[in-house]
Amino acid sequence: MPRIDPMEMTALVALVNDWGNRPREVGHRDQPEATPERQQTVMAVADRLHAIFADGDTASRAVTVTAILAETGVSPELVFTAGTLGAAWAVPRLEDALLASAALALRDHLAARPDRLGICHDRQCADVYVDASPAGQRRFCSLTCQNRSRVAAFRERNRKEA
Ligand SMILES: [Zn+2]
Repeated sequence: MPRIDPMEMTALVALVNDWGNRPREVGHRDQPEATPERQQTVMAVADRLHAIFADGDTASRAVTVTAILAETGVSPELVFTAGTLGAAWAVPRLEDALLASAALALRDHLAARPDRLGICHDRQCADVYVDASPAGQRRFCSLTCQNRSRVAAFRERNRKEA
């Protein structure tokens, strides 16, 4: 069986933002180049992951991640290689490796920090982010979006007052 590791959260965020339909549409970005089959697979995974970031409900996120783990059939293994034992994860089908690897990462991450995933509040952006700030009050994917949103809010206030 193909072995996988939990995806790094930074890689997971990049995957969703580069390949997800919603982040690309709202941010007016083209999809990365790849073979058509690869595009289909990765886009489908990215869209499913984006939905988890968009879902503000902790219990519902847990249900979704658990369902993906079950669907991909990812299972823990104890592996003996080169004279040593190691913990590993395996998936029955290679085509599920990407999704399963992301689901493992989300499982670990959400178990430790259930309220630290989000979607950018800027109107021209639907990118996802992981909030690593001490206060956990992050609302934007980047400083660029934060500044753009502030300027827009400022202009709107001025318009209303004028
Ligand atoms: Zn943003």
